Amino acid sequence: MHNFELSPNLPKNHDLNKKYNRFAKQLSEWYNSGKVPELASQDTRFMLELQKQKLKKLGIDMQIKFGKTEQNEGNVGALSFEDSVFVNTIIGTSKKVTTTIRNSGNEIYCSSEEGNLSVVLQNPKTGCVPPADTPLCCPNCGAPSTLGGLEDGCEFCDTKFLMDELYPKVMHIFIEKYGKLLYDKKPIKKYILFCSIGFFVLYIGLHILKSFIINTEAFRQFMETKDFTVDKDSIVTYLYAVPASAFMGVFFGIPAWFIANIIESVRQLANVGRGGSTMPKTLIFCNKMHTLDPTFSIEYFRDKSTSLLKFMLYSSDPQELNICQCKKPIPKKIREIIDITYRNSGVTKYSIKNGVCNVSLTFYTDSLHYRNGRIIRSSDKIRMSMRKVIKKPTDLGFSFKAVTCPSCGGSFDAANVRNCPYCGNDYPFEENEWVVTDISI
Ligand SMILES: [Zn+2]
Ligand SMILES: [Zn+2]
Repeated sequence: MHNFELSPNLPKNHDLNKKYNRFAKQLSEWYNSGKVPELASQDTRFMLELQKQKLKKLGIDMQIKFGKTEQNEGNVGALSFEDSVFVNTIIGTSKKVTTTIRNSGNEIYCSSEEGNLSVVLQNPKTGCVPPADTPLCCPNCGAPSTLGGLEDGCEFCDTKFLMDELYPKVMHIFIEKYGKLLYDKKPIKKYILFCSIGFFVLYIGLHILKSFIINTEAFRQFMETKDFTVDKDSIVTYLYAVPASAFMGVFFGIPAWFIANIIESVRQLANVGRGGSTMPKTLIFCNKMHTLDPTFSIEYFRDKSTSLLKFMLYSSDPQELNICQCKKPIPKKIREIIDITYRNSGVTKYSIKNGVCNVSLTFYTDSLHYRNGRIIRSSDKIRMSMRKVIKKPTDLGFSFKAVTCPSCGGSFDAANVRNCPYCGNDYPFEENEWVVTDISI
């Protein structure tokens, strides 16, 4: 592999590390107060905005918090890949992810679990200044513009920007949740308590039963008078049962807790391993694409396809998006998804003919569905097909919120608009970006 650089442990004072931590804070703020994350690229902001609008339309509110994990904060790892102008760096570490969903003030879902927050940060290559006509959105007002235009002052809000203020940008966000906290020590007390109470109740119940069997006269009396008196001997027996039950609680509670944890870890392991069989085809596909387009990489493709999937899932009306060229209606089960945790993805089918690439992918996700007023968590297999014309090399800096019209050079937002507002020509979307041609679950 070339163009790659891996740093398994980024120093704390490294610029990328600082930016990552700043963004983690900004993302928490976004989910809790709605403050737009400054470091997010316009496409990322658009994805977050789509999700917020969809939740609002459904009448629900979702908050996500990123905290430190119980163990020490893990190492921050980074992997970089580049094209002729930009360097994209995947950077992430473990976080405690807390998700709370409310429906008109009532909590309908809450989970706090160990997870991971990874982002893809984009910077210009060292010693490389992106061309002035690089399409870019104004970080202040969001108006589509160019790098040169923003340095001179935004046409709409007049704000001037320096290069350092425009980069780095967060291009993609991955929030992973591992399920229950692994080997969480807290529930061990619960297991012991439940086992102790269980034994105590069982012991006393058996004791009463035994006394009735031995003394049928007492039982007959009890049935008639409904009056049950406890004799002195029994009270002593019950008192002895307290430490005995506590002992049994520890004796059986700890192994029960241990077994429950093992079952959970095996379940998670099976979950993480989903989709491994698609790996060989994915590698063949990415290698083939790499020979046709040297900028194309497996990392780029995974990030890009996952972003497109999120646009499709988080939009209340995906067919309004320009990236959606699906002929078939979007299945109901897809439309009820409000949040996903990406587990794995892989290529299942592809064809490259006459300079057009068609590729089908399977995504393995853990999704939150909103169905009949309830949140349902399920492990999903989502199939998505994509298409692109492979004429130009991949542009890591591409943003569909700011594209340049090839006919007149005007900058505009191509997320929902198909034609250039200045000259009216159709924007050749598929020559610059992947489009989604089918999605199913
Ligand atoms: Zn502006
Ligand atoms: Zn135009």
